[in-house]
Amino acid sequence: RHDAFLDESAIDPDAAKVVRRLERHGFQCYLVGGCIRDLLLGGRPKDFDIATSARPEDVRSLFRNCRIIGRRFRLAHVLFGGGKVIEVATFRKNPQEIDEEEDLLIRSDNVFGEAHEDAIRRDFTINALFYDLDRRQVLDWCGGMEDIAKRTIRTIGEPSVRFREDPVRILRAIKFAARLDLGIEPTVYDAMVSHREDLARAARPRVFEEVLRLMRQGSAHRSMWITWESGVMAVLMPELAAFLDDEESHPEAVARFWRQLDAVDRTTHARGPIEDTVLMMMLFYEPLEEAMAGSRDRMRAAGDFLAPVAERVAIPRRVGDSMRRIVALLPRLRTGRAVRAGRNGELVTLAQRVLELVSAS
Ligand code: ATP
Ligand code: MG
Repeated sequence: RHDAFLDESAIDPDAAKVVRRLERHGFQCYLVGGCIRDLLLGGRPKDFDIATSARPEDVRSLFRNCRIIGRRFRLAHVLFGGGKVIEVATFRKNPQEIDEEEDLLIRSDNVFGEAHEDAIRRDFTINALFYDLDRRQVLDWCGGMEDIAKRTIRTIGEPSVRFREDPVRILRAIKFAARLDLGIEPTVYDAMVSHREDLARAARPRVFEEVLRLMRQGSAHRSMWITWESGVMAVLMPELAAFLDDEESHPEAVARFWRQLDAVDRTTHARGPIEDTVLMMMLFYEPLEEAMAGSRDRMRAAGDFLAPVAERVAIPRRVGDSMRRIVALLPRLRTGRAVRAGRNGELVTLAQRVLELVSAS
């Protein structure tokens, strides 16, 4: 237990209400995970998650505005005005360790447990801190406070085991390093590099979602730099990795790529999140231009380039189709020719946004 120096005024009052009511009814209850990490690092948490000894049914009986979600692991959502959702999860532990070396992949994850078990099943030490509102103390079973002080990302337990259990954690490490400007502990980084191929067999929708998160949070440049440098990009987006590896043959294009990501980050900070389709377009804008250059059938060339990309990271059809149609719109928009909006109105807006970002860079 550490006496904490958290700015309690930054804690969401509704989340605090939920914690206090559960405690009044005799349950253990803590603020956990990302919100405590962000508060300790001086940031503003985007949501407040709660872990408790209460079962989902207990939570529901205490809050009228509550629904239980999820099948594999059931959680309670307590709803407040303005669409605010406070997620309340019962302490869980890792299902019995599976011995077979080759099959560490976590399949089921719904065994209730104690607070400390809930902490050590988490991914990184900085994500495993529990905050006791009542006593104003941080509970730390994994050395997370020290890693916060050192601004370091470290897995809980053996990095290679944790990355094999869930390869998506490799992308999460990159996300936190980039977004919070933290270092990655060297043995953790080495394990990310050694196990990067495992990402090819991770659930692809989760991979796509994490790639979007890398692009979304105002640190796209740093995220993609680490993704490239660690060799993770060569697994997930080999076309883009090859484009960056071959800097010598097109240094200007590579420089433009990084400047475009800077523009993405500036715009995100200034105006909030950018549409998924636009983010994916910015990731592939330069290599797409290159694939289309000199081709008589630009659309065909773009389609041929995007098909394997979309397949590998499971870009949803909705996003992939829009990307192809945006590519088709760009030449006309670039020359300022009028484009009939009509049915394509939304797409034209997205294409314009891409051009804005390109010209802002
Ligand atoms: P963000 O600010 O991006 O939401 P977060 O840390 O809150 O960051 P979430 O994805 O919301 O991340 O997850 C909440 C918590 O659940 C994490 O802080 C971590 O403790 C735990 N967690 C999430 N994903 C995993 C995972 N793949 N393996 C182990 N623990 C995880
Ligand atoms: Mg979160």
